[in-house]
Amino acid sequence: MKVECLVCLKETAIPKNLDILNYDGQITCRECGSLLQVKLVKSKVQQCKLVREGHPKVDPAKLLEALREAKEVEKSWLAKKP
Ligand SMILES: [Zn+2]
Repeated sequence: MKVECLVCLKETAIPKNLDILNYDGQITCRECGSLLQVKLVKSKVQQCKLVREGHPKVDPAKLLEALREAKEVEKSWLAKKP
């Protein structure tokens, strides 16, 4: 049984040990790591909402670059302060 992730829109498999006939809890998307609150009744999704947005797999190099850019913004912001 699978649930469509609200963030990356990919189907994520529900762990086999969950009771899909009656489950109300959280699952983590395997693709982006988002935390979803799902309610399953008789193997059907009754409710699905986003608890915490995850991030699609990122390139570590790109992440470093983004961090560096963030620091630059911070610096220029501090420089503008009187
Ligand atoms: Zn996802």
